[in-house]
Amino acid sequence: MPTPALSIVIPVFNEEATLTTLFARLYPALDELGETYEVVFINDGSRDRSAAILREQYEARPDVTRVILFSANAGQHMAIMAGFEHCRGEIVLTLDADLQNPPEEIHKLVAKMREGHDYVGSIRRKRQDSLFRTWASKAMNRLREKITRIKITDQGNMLRAYSRSVVNAINSCKEVATFIPALAYTFARSPTEVVVEHEERAAGESKYSLYSLIRLNFDLMTGFSLVPLQWFSMLGIVVSLGSGALFVLLMVRRLILGPEAEGLFTLFALMFFLIGLALFGIGLLGEYIGRIYQQVRHRPRYLIEAILEKQE
Ligand code: UDP
Ligand code: MG
Repeated sequence: MPTPALSIVIPVFNEEATLTTLFARLYPALDELGETYEVVFINDGSRDRSAAILREQYEARPDVTRVILFSANAGQHMAIMAGFEHCRGEIVLTLDADLQNPPEEIHKLVAKMREGHDYVGSIRRKRQDSLFRTWASKAMNRLREKITRIKITDQGNMLRAYSRSVVNAINSCKEVATFIPALAYTFARSPTEVVVEHEERAAGESKYSLYSLIRLNFDLMTGFSLVPLQWFSMLGIVVSLGSGALFVLLMVRRLILGPEAEGLFTLFALMFFLIGLALFGIGLLGEYIGRIYQQVRHRPRYLIEAILEKQE
């Protein structure tokens, strides 16, 4: 395979229900572009028939298909990392396997890249997700805007295009817990965004539980900003000034009016509030320390069982 113009990187985790439809729409859409391309699928340790289906597709289109098979689940962003390390295209696009990002929209991103941008994000024109997901993601977008310097309108959307130089920069950092669109944004010279369509998941279920969504958002916030820690120490200053003032007030009161025993439950409320704050602070520290620990262990970020690709 000579260097293709486009690489399409697609992470796959338990997507047996959508893969066939994905192939049927993706390959014709790409053929229509009239560009040389390769599709790189990463099977992220699926426990269903996904690996077998990807193997069949590789046998059907070996000229333009490459498949990386992980031996265990490493997460969507690590799967994309592996795709980035193995793809060869000049423009690299990421896409979800569940057809929420219509393959027919790829040409819009390619056109923007050809205008000279090195990173093209996308904004979902009308998001087809549950109300709760849409609302929660809006809130996280706003929080991210505040605490990081990353300007992405629609962070949850993975239909994005990256230039070779941005992909090389991403490959040079060996981050364990990261958020690819944000990492790419920090390396891009000329980022831009386009509006794209969004569809309901073609089949199967979302691979993100509420818990894993929260974890992912912690990766984003802690990976790109120290602001949560800085805010927390500011809060600490305010609270200790406040309690200092309270101490002086109570001392004066004790001297003038004598001892008091009332206000027991006010005390409880105050204590619970402060204990809550302290626990939150310890948890927040833990989020950072845990990531530092993962990073310094230097364990492999993912284990590749096999790579299916045509030998040159
Ligand atoms: N995915 C993955 N590993 C995981 C979770 C998800 O490779 O641990 C893939 C999944 O197969 C899909 C994409 O990441 O291609 C997005 O996942 P999903 O559609 O379930 O997320 P949602 O659209 O609900 O955010
Ligand atoms: Mg999806």
